[in-house]
Amino acid sequence: MLMRLTKDSNGATAMQVKQQLVSPTALTATAWQQLLVKFNQSAATYQRNVCLHELFEAQVERTPNAPSLIFQEEILTYHEFHLRANQLAHRLRKLGVGPESLVGICMERSPEMVIAMYGILKAGGAYVPFDPSYPQERLDFMLADTQVAVLLTQERLKSHLSNFKSQTTICLDSEWDSIAQESTVKVESDVSEENLAYVIYTSGSTGQPKGVMIEHRGICNQLQWMQTTYPLTTEDAVLLRTPFSFDLSLYEFFSPLLAGARLVMAEPAREKDPQYLVNLIQREHITTLFLVPSMLQMLLEEDSFVTSQTLKHIFCSGEALPFALQQRFFARMPSHTRLHNLYGPTEASVECTHWDCERDTNRNFLPIGRPIANYQIHILDEQLQPVPIGTPGELHIGGIGLARGYWNRPELTAERFISIAECGSQIVESDSRLPTPDSRLYKTGDLARWHADGVLECLGRIDFQVKIRGHRIELGEIEAALLAHPGIRACVVTAREDVPGDKRLIAYLMPQQAELPLNGELRSHLQQKLPTYMMPAAFVPMTSLPLSPNGKIDRKQLPAPDEILLARETDFVAPANDTERKLTQIWAEALRLRAIGVTDNFFVLGGHSLLAVRLFAAVEKEFGQKLPLTTLLHAPTIRQLAAALAQPQSWSALVPLQPAGNRPPFFCVHAVGGNVLEYYELAQQMCPDQPFYGLQSVGLDGKQRPLRSIAEMAAQYLREIRQLQPQGPYYLGGRSFGGVVAYEMAQQLRAEGQAVALIALLDTDPIGWLKRFPRHVALPYQARFLALRIKRHLQNLRGLRLRDQWSYLRKKADYKKRKLATMRWQLAHLFHTRQENRLSETLREVEEFNYRAARYYVPATYPEPVTFIYAQEEISTTENIFGWQTLATGGVEVIAVPGNHQSMIKAPNVQLLAAQLKARLTQNQPKYQ
Ligand code: AMP
Repeated sequence: MLMRLTKDSNGATAMQVKQQLVSPTALTATAWQQLLVKFNQSAATYQRNVCLHELFEAQVERTPNAPSLIFQEEILTYHEFHLRANQLAHRLRKLGVGPESLVGICMERSPEMVIAMYGILKAGGAYVPFDPSYPQERLDFMLADTQVAVLLTQERLKSHLSNFKSQTTICLDSEWDSIAQESTVKVESDVSEENLAYVIYTSGSTGQPKGVMIEHRGICNQLQWMQTTYPLTTEDAVLLRTPFSFDLSLYEFFSPLLAGARLVMAEPAREKDPQYLVNLIQREHITTLFLVPSMLQMLLEEDSFVTSQTLKHIFCSGEALPFALQQRFFARMPSHTRLHNLYGPTEASVECTHWDCERDTNRNFLPIGRPIANYQIHILDEQLQPVPIGTPGELHIGGIGLARGYWNRPELTAERFISIAECGSQIVESDSRLPTPDSRLYKTGDLARWHADGVLECLGRIDFQVKIRGHRIELGEIEAALLAHPGIRACVVTAREDVPGDKRLIAYLMPQQAELPLNGELRSHLQQKLPTYMMPAAFVPMTSLPLSPNGKIDRKQLPAPDEILLARETDFVAPANDTERKLTQIWAEALRLRAIGVTDNFFVLGGHSLLAVRLFAAVEKEFGQKLPLTTLLHAPTIRQLAAALAQPQSWSALVPLQPAGNRPPFFCVHAVGGNVLEYYELAQQMCPDQPFYGLQSVGLDGKQRPLRSIAEMAAQYLREIRQLQPQGPYYLGGRSFGGVVAYEMAQQLRAEGQAVALIALLDTDPIGWLKRFPRHVALPYQARFLALRIKRHLQNLRGLRLRDQWSYLRKKADYKKRKLATMRWQLAHLFHTRQENRLSETLREVEEFNYRAARYYVPATYPEPVTFIYAQEEISTTENIFGWQTLATGGVEVIAVPGNHQSMIKAPNVQLLAAQLKARLTQNQPKYQ
């Protein structure tokens, strides 16, 4: 049996535990009885011969109008979601998808991604996640390996998949209109519980990832066990944050939707931002979380997380839950929040054991618990015989949830999924007690032992697989990728945990020639092959690798990276000033590296979000300045961070959201909140050569006084704009309140004789237009529009069936309720920590100033045309169009776009808004070279 040095949660090494391994002993009949029968009494009868999507469809019948998916401002009811998934399923059927067909999904987290999964299952196929953040080479390999019949993606990711012309590729965002023509009736496919539901790729020790094939029966058993043991109801909400290429996400994607609960999706790329997650948890009243321990560790440091009133269950999985983290959890979290430790490999349909963590415990270790329903656990020695209680052995899994095997890898399947007959008759007999005997066992490679009370303790690995922040990594895969570089003769990669809770990958390398290739070169070589989480934090040059007496590499003798000089960085740039020097010190401590150059990239050096939190806390302590974590995205080097630290002095209302290109810029003014981050997506959707600038409220930095009137704002923004573009024609716009400011800017520009080519009013109310009329004229207008609004609601309701009417009203009420909840949270949050308090107060103050400015604004008429782009789901449109027509005497161009006041600038609606804006910008623009 291969052995390597890995630490368990209690600090013991697998090597030390191995020394306790006893040779097989003949167990007494009582011991057999205890191990195989008593400890494995897991048989449970759940609904059988059912598929994953059928469990969902049964739920749609029970709660058609309950909210199912929530993403930003968008809410889909069970019924709506079911219809959309049916439409996609019909399209897939036409393309030949059915039982055993693999359909790829390469998408960012979005409602379409969930619709894609359910649509594939409904069509009878199995989904294969292709994480768009993976390097091209890895995606290419997986696509070639699976030969998926159809690939579902999004327009912006299409370029990632350009090598795959042979597959049918469908962009669910841009092609949805056509899919929406398909029938909404439930699809009849002859898929059965023995067909594949999904194939998930995990790291492979021989250099390439391997696809694990899971059938419906395994995952259905798993989800039914979960629902029986920790039931969810319509009152519950589950947060979706786990990448879909990690099987823990199955719980997030499916457990709420099989039970009438809500599935609340974190925005893409924000799943590791603790502050964002905490806000979302509070806002959406999340009750259930699935986390890897390192994420729990980060969240526990957030004060507003530990005071959460709604959280009931936190399930940890993916790697060992350290005992100390459990203790920290109990010290910080209220007693109504329960912590659970789940254990299981992808090959066992997500999990196979569970444990409810105990607040008052005499145990000095954290168990992985007992087998879940219809699973059996056997701890076996090298001869595949059970070992006595307390004796370490390899954990083997049996039962209904075992994977069919590895896609296209029969030898590896045979090696890891062994026949139960090899293990002796007692085990065969215990397997036969399960409702669905499998007659195979999966060899996990985990070292574990039974305790006398029937709970299991996991002790580490017996092979070269490691877990880094929940990601499963075969060190052999990294080594194979390194050896593919012509400059490397030999190498060994280890995962070191020199500081508890911070495991890092270190590569020890012997060069082919006298010198190692440069760090930068090695990193870019690996970047083409491996996901970011597999990138070593440091490359250590070695003249030889230490060997043990039997000639194997002696990993214990490998030096710690801070005891030796790291590989040479020729692009090393030394700090040039005091700020850079102090930052270098902070980075070196956080990353535990020496010789960091000021132009080295934080992420390339092995930085991740947990380290970023530490780093920014240290920066705040040293410089007294709190920068948002997202600063690292655009300032990932010491030099750039130093510049960002220096920036607040030169604060500007003008924010370059997309500065590239030589067309005249589009200037988009903030809504009433003052912030322009909400325009980020819109800016990205415009032409790549269309500069897009946001204008944010003065005062957001907490230092300057916010501006009091719309005229004052317009004047200030024009001063800044004219430094960038001194002469017209100007292209202006803004959502909501921002449209009014843009309108006022156009007035001021016109007064100066400047040309304005576009005023794009994005669902902007013509604030103050009625003030232009005497009261006796304004009042009848107001009454008329109120009547119109009521009429519109009634009209909307009339067109709906009774249960949809209910849904409509609930949606409106829910929206209001959610808004109120957000406000309540914001209020509560104000009193939290002094720093957060300061930030919230600043935002509130800016918003208040903006509201006040709007209240006193009386618009003048404007003799040129304006463009009014309204959100289709809003109901005061008639009134707004009328208002703008009384103001813009040059004419009002009226355009409808999908969504509501907020969601119109969010995916997927934002694309159509961008298309409309692009058309206006190019139409009105002179020809540019
Ligand atoms: P994956 O296939 O990514 O789910 O990884 C499975 C492996 O992660 C297991 O074989 C264990 O090595 C490790 N693992 C998962 N959950 C736990 C846990 N609760 N405690 C200890 N190790 C775990």
